[in-house]
Amino acid sequence: MKALIIDDSATMRKIVRGSLEAIGGFEIEEAENCDEGLKKLLGGLVVNLILVDWNMPGMTGIDFTKSIRGTPALSKIPIVMITSNAEKEHVLSAVMAGVNDYMVKPFTPDVFAQKIKKALGI
Ligand SMILES: [Mg+2]
Repeated sequence: MKALIIDDSATMRKIVRGSLEAIGGFEIEEAENCDEGLKKLLGGLVVNLILVDWNMPGMTGIDFTKSIRGTPALSKIPIVMITSNAEKEHVLSAVMAGVNDYMVKPFTPDVFAQKIKKALGI
């Protein structure tokens, strides 16, 4: 299973990477912004799961999600949004943009594993 982590914070990428490794079975790619992530995917990187931060310099996680959902070759990839904003309207706009799930920081290993498995349908 291949996962792409997109987050401008190296610390957060490390936490998410560690959380995926705790579940096990993931080969992990990282990008430090959405443009870089999108470039990798359009360049042929094949992943089973994308974990994307909301707030980043440049393209936001929301715009990234809309772009993925609008690209036929990439549109089916499960996307889990990771953000510190738990407001209902934010969750709603993420869902409207097409994320499979939404995770609020800080998350517990249990919640993380549960949401990732649900997004992957495993
Ligand atoms: Mg950020």
